[in-house]
Order: sequence, then structure tokens, then C-alpha cells
Amino acid sequence: MPEPTSPINDRLIAFFRKNLLDWSVQNPRPMPWKGERDPYKIWLSEIILQQTRVEQGLPYYQKFAAKYPSVRQLADAQEDDVMKLWEGLGYYSRARNLHAAAKHIANELNGVFPTTYEGIRALKGVGPYTASAVASFAFGLPHAVLDGNVYRVLARFFGIETLTDSPSAQKQFTALAQKLLDPGCPAAHNQAIMDFGATCCTAQQARCTVCPLQSECQAFLMDKVAELPLKSKGLVKKKRLFHYLIINHQGHVFVRKRTGKDIWRGLWEFPQVEGPVQASDFGVETIRESAPFKQLLTHQAVTAVFFEIDLADDVPAVVFQNPLFEGCKRIDRKELKKNIAFPRVIDCYLQNIVLTLN
Ligand code: SF4
Repeated sequence: MPEPTSPINDRLIAFFRKNLLDWSVQNPRPMPWKGERDPYKIWLSEIILQQTRVEQGLPYYQKFAAKYPSVRQLADAQEDDVMKLWEGLGYYSRARNLHAAAKHIANELNGVFPTTYEGIRALKGVGPYTASAVASFAFGLPHAVLDGNVYRVLARFFGIETLTDSPSAQKQFTALAQKLLDPGCPAAHNQAIMDFGATCCTAQQARCTVCPLQSECQAFLMDKVAELPLKSKGLVKKKRLFHYLIINHQGHVFVRKRTGKDIWRGLWEFPQVEGPVQASDFGVETIRESAPFKQLLTHQAVTAVFFEIDLADDVPAVVFQNPLFEGCKRIDRKELKKNIAFPRVIDCYLQNIVLTLN
């Protein structure tokens, strides 16, 4: 495991803490959840911000905080309503876990949010990062956050050449982040390092010329800012091809809820066939085929093609016994966008927006 190129001594730790905190006082980044002490709202904001940019997550936080102002109100909500409110934000397991954890708090913990790191970490969907963030922001507990921003700041400042996606990296960077955490003000320190990584020591264009850590930053001194942090070669995304059948019958269409362990569990979709097929495979004459719509997920690249099929009003009932209709419910086409949560790629088709792969 490559060691930092600068020795981590008390002087360097004090330099890092002081300059980071001073920077954050001079560069405030107002957010609705900053200064919030309600652990429920802090947890909500942190779950929404997982793998999501602040600008994208902000309106979702506001919608959730307004509709479900307490953990009990979230616990009492219907899962479909929670999924609908989450629609468009992606990573839907977050919404399912949020809802399950709210029920757990309401039913098993008497509605009282856990007050320890371990208790918060035990909630469904809460990893070490979120537990540290909630523990420090809500209860002032000394647990250092470690996310992509923090990895980058630490790798650059200390000149660490460990592959950040290697098995040993998490242990090394967690220990370092914890050592640097200012025990006198863990919330302010955690907030400062996250904001600093997001706005100053950024992935694409680090603002080294105005950086208060520059004089001790190993990456800057060794001209390695663009190289660090190091990562192994990029993830290969699994390619999937979905064919959706939008079967129109008497002004209605057929939709079903996704179940099982695949992506988008709990969201709705049209009857779907995965893999290469032709419009002619469906054995109906009136069919319209869309252009491909694409959606990139962390591990998968999904291409969706939509077939619009118009069934005659008096089509024989036996048609609906086809396995394609299994688990489907028949709804008025006008209701499609009202209270059903779809994956983004289906939303885009319904709104006729093409997502491009890049
Ligand atoms: S000098 Fe540049 S690379 Fe180093 S911490 Fe500052 S912004 Fe990041």
C-alpha cells in the first residue's frame, strides 16, 4: 500500500484543519439542510444526495421534507407514493430503503431516531459515509466522512498513490480521514471537507491558485494534480436491450410492477422482452417502433425500444392470456403520468425526450 509522500505529523494535521475551516467560513455554501438539527431531515438529505449532484437532489429534498415532515409521516406513506415522489432521481433502492428504515424507526424504535453511529449505521440503506454524516451533523459525534470528494482531497494533499478503488484503499483513507477530523468541531470539519472537494479541489479543474492548502499540497508540489487520485481502469457496463410493448386497447394500456432482484424493483413498466427481437416477432400487423432510448446506470447501459401495438376493440379474450400480460394491470392511458413511477427511460419515451449516451 503506497504511503503518503508527506509525513502526517501534528503540524501538518493542524495546518490542514485550520486552513480548511477558515476556507469554509470564507466560502459558505448555503443549503436548506445546513444548520438543521433534526436527524430525520439530515438523514433524508444525505440519502437523496448519495450519488446525486446537489442541484439535482435539492428539489427532491424540498418535496420530501414538505410532504413527509416527520419520520412517522414517511413511515405511514404508501410505497407507490414514495416511489412516485422519487421518480427521476434514479437509484431507486434508496427510496425503498428510506421507506423501510422509516417504518423500522416508527414501529421498532418508538419513532425515535437512533442517536449513535452504530444505531444510524444499522438503518437500511445507511453505509459508513451516511452514518458519519448524520452522526456528526445531528449529534456532533466524531466520525469522519469519506466520499469521493474526500478521497480526492486526501490523495492529492498527501500525495497518496494507492488505487482508490482497491480493497486496501478504504481502510487507509478511513484511518487518515479520522486522524484529520477536528474532534472539537466534527460537523463543521466534515461539512468543510465535503464542500472543499466539491467546489475547490474538484475532479476536473482544481482551483489550486486560490487554494489555502497549496503550500503543503503534495500533488501541487509534484505536479500530479491531474493524476491523483489513482483509479484502476474504468468499469465495464453491462449492455441490456429492452423491448417494451405498449399495447393500446380501448384507450387503455397494460403496465406491471417490476419485482425480483433486478434493476428498478418497485417501479412500473410496460410488458417487456429482453434481447434482440423484430417488430414482426409479435405477430400483429399494426405496430409502430420507436427510435432507441438510452439510460446509463452505474453498472449497466440500458437501451429501450418501444413498440406501440393497437388491438382491435373486439380482440378475442384469449389474446390476454398471453404470458406477456402476466402480472399486468390495465389502466387508462391518460393516467400514465399521474401516479405511476416509471424508470427514466420510459418517462423519456412518454415525454419524447431522447437521452444520449456519452
Ligand atoms: S492545491 Fe490543488 S490539488 Fe492541492 S488541495 Fe488545493 S486544490 Fe487540491
